[in-house]
Amino acid sequence: MKQIPMVDLAGQYQKIKPEVDAAIAEILTNTSFINGPAVKQFQQNLEKYLNVKHVIPCGNGTDALQVAMMALDLKPGDEVITTSFTFIATAEVIALLQLTPVLVDVDKDTFNIDPEAIEKAITPKTKAIVPVHLFGQCADMDAIMDIAKRHKLYVIEDNAQAIGADFTSADGTVKKAGTIGDIGCTSFFPSKNLGCYGDGGAIFTDDDALAKKMRVIVNHGMEVRYYHDSIGVNSRLDSIQAAVLDIKLRHLDEYAEARRYAANYYNTAFAACKKLKTPVKSPFTTHVFHQYTLVTHNVDRQKLMEHLQSKGISSAIYYPVPLHLQKAYVDPRYNQGDFPVTEALSETVISLPIHTEFDDESLAYVTDAVLEFVGKE
Ligand SMILES: *Cc1c(COP(=O)(O)O)cnc(C)c1O
Repeated sequence: MKQIPMVDLAGQYQKIKPEVDAAIAEILTNTSFINGPAVKQFQQNLEKYLNVKHVIPCGNGTDALQVAMMALDLKPGDEVITTSFTFIATAEVIALLQLTPVLVDVDKDTFNIDPEAIEKAITPKTKAIVPVHLFGQCADMDAIMDIAKRHKLYVIEDNAQAIGADFTSADGTVKKAGTIGDIGCTSFFPSKNLGCYGDGGAIFTDDDALAKKMRVIVNHGMEVRYYHDSIGVNSRLDSIQAAVLDIKLRHLDEYAEARRYAANYYNTAFAACKKLKTPVKSPFTTHVFHQYTLVTHNVDRQKLMEHLQSKGISSAIYYPVPLHLQKAYVDPRYNQGDFPVTEALSETVISLPIHTEFDDESLAYVTDAVLEFVGKE
């Protein structure tokens, strides 16, 4: 039986194996495992690709978010507005720093944070907004930057899922996702669009002072060796991961193209099916399809997933529980029913396999299996 995993990292590796193996072998030989030349080289190439002044590599995407918030000198009790429909890391670091996460609902079509809801959630304690570019397309950054400007708030973009996506402002300026707000954060977790072979992350900014501060924070608050002027963390991208990422960065746009091809194939196959709503892209952003997520209507989602699994096809639910209903985040401020769009999505979405290695035959195998269960119309 065919096996269709959510991502095909093995297939992707086969195509770049000689380069990757040679790069890793070189580091094994020169033993520059930490802060080696490969890290600097990747940093500079990513700065060029993103057209941003500073990239600060770090240990993972969660650290990237934490370091960004540490650099803004937020005080316990300060409020940070983010989306209720995201991976936990976004809210986790807010809570860890004893800041107050303020959740807001998302747009029902794009699944991204709703700017009107942000505006309504602002109080005198609000200090920052953390939009997440969910599933591979940008949140409405014109609206978010406008709100931030009017209320003097920082914007930290959680760009773990949309690296390489382009955002076009109303004035025609095109910027890479993660380079629009004050700080952008990304993850190089293996299954992300730019993934390494372990953990990795990075922070982006055009602000020289913030960049300097964040470089110090990721290195134990140390500027001069063994002199610690601020409390920092230990968060590094190791040289082997940087070498892998530097090779994969050269393929990032072609990887996005392959993901879009698969998404278009799915969209066409499901177009006539009233029980499935295909992804809706905002006009101001490109979509790099970190996930391909359908909204189901009157479909037994669990049974659909079992049907797919019986044919060797993986599927997943991102995310089954909204942040405000997670046990660790139970908060008297929030109740079931507070974020109706997020709550409805968490009960109806399903994500299908999407990656860089699909061929038409495998895509047809997936779409046939889905339509066999839900019906063609
Ligand atoms: C993956 C992810 C993160 C965290 O990245 P890690 O590298 O796993 O720490 C944060 N936010 C979002 C939206 C993510 O998808």
